[in-house]
Amino acid sequence: MRVLVTGGAGYIGSHTCVELLKAGHEVFVIDNLSNGHETSLERVRLITNCELQFTNADIRDANALDKIFNTFKPDSVIHFAGLKAVGESVANPLMYYDVNVGGSVSLLTAMSKAGCNKIVFSSSATVYGKPQYLPYDEEHPTNPVNPYGRTKLIIENIINDWTEVDTNRKGVILRYFNPVGAHESGQIGEEPIGIPNNLMPYIAQVAGGRREHLNIFGNEYDTSDGTGARDYIHVVDLALAHIGALNQNKLDMFDVLNIGAGKSTTVLELVSNFEEISGVPIKFKYLPRREGDLAAFWADSSKAFEKTSWKPERNINNICEDTWRWQKLNPNGYGIK
Ligand code: NAD
Ligand code: UDP
Repeated sequence: MRVLVTGGAGYIGSHTCVELLKAGHEVFVIDNLSNGHETSLERVRLITNCELQFTNADIRDANALDKIFNTFKPDSVIHFAGLKAVGESVANPLMYYDVNVGGSVSLLTAMSKAGCNKIVFSSSATVYGKPQYLPYDEEHPTNPVNPYGRTKLIIENIINDWTEVDTNRKGVILRYFNPVGAHESGQIGEEPIGIPNNLMPYIAQVAGGRREHLNIFGNEYDTSDGTGARDYIHVVDLALAHIGALNQNKLDMFDVLNIGAGKSTTVLELVSNFEEISGVPIKFKYLPRREGDLAAFWADSSKAFEKTSWKPERNINNICEDTWRWQKLNPNGYGIK
């Protein structure tokens, strides 16, 4: 299959490119490098010993997209490109609607013109909002509480409407839980710009000596040890979920799948696992709860298990091992930002 990967130079995109190439697909990446790195694509080539094509362009650039569709003629698109920082989306919502929603409309327009009928889209568990029950399944009502989450839900609906127009079209929405970890080679991983917002890269940077201590936001939640709990999914398992979504035929024209490990891990559990794997004590301080944080949530991913051949195979130990290897080999990430 020929697969166009938008945002393929980013964290999840680069890992997915590896798995696509390993599975024998041809890959073309479009990325404007606003948060991605060309080095990650060089490393993808190194890991797989395969070629992939790349254009540095914005998905809102219709001419750039048309050119790719006319020359590469993709059978499918995996759509990662977008902005993902919740706080930034609150401060600058129009930028999020422009890039995420506008970019997706531009992409679907180019796909329609070229007769490309299949899209797999990166959505997020954040579309569910406050849990009415747990684990979240795909039937759980959606009520995103910030502009980032609302852009994801809007795009899901746009893709649904797009598939309604033509019975040949397929849209698969993957609602990711908490992607973490790195490729086992230690060559590609997550490189947050500035101070990490997310827990795992923060822990890794404390262990690596780049930050003095971890701030734990809240220790009085209704969880086993009082700290927040999340469903951490290894990024390679997540990448493989995209291959599953492309390959199988059991999915409906428009389908939504939760992609998580199905179990939650608290902040303290993750810290203690990381200490054990790395042999480095992680200093931490308790701070008040972070505004908008939920106590705990995790996925019911049984629909994805049933409808695709996918199942996560990596556990929290693998996650810590691979994150630590990436951190040690690349203390400053790709080192070019
Ligand atoms: P990332 O920032 O590492 O990757 C996104 C890539 O898209 C970057 O390489 C960036 O340069 C590129 N990009 C951004 N805007 C673009 C544009 N207008 N045109 C072309 N390229 C553009 O993020 P990631 O963690 O790999 O996330 C990928 C997708 O998964 C995003 O859509 C994100 O919202 C979604 N997602 C991520 C998480 C997470 O925790 N990482 C969770 C749920 C959903
Ligand atoms: N968290 C924390 N310190 C940090 C970052 C996160 O204690 O520096 C906690 C956060 O409160 C939540 C969990 O770790 O309970 C996961 O947070 P993250 O931002 O990684 O994911 P999200 O909240 O988006 O699910």
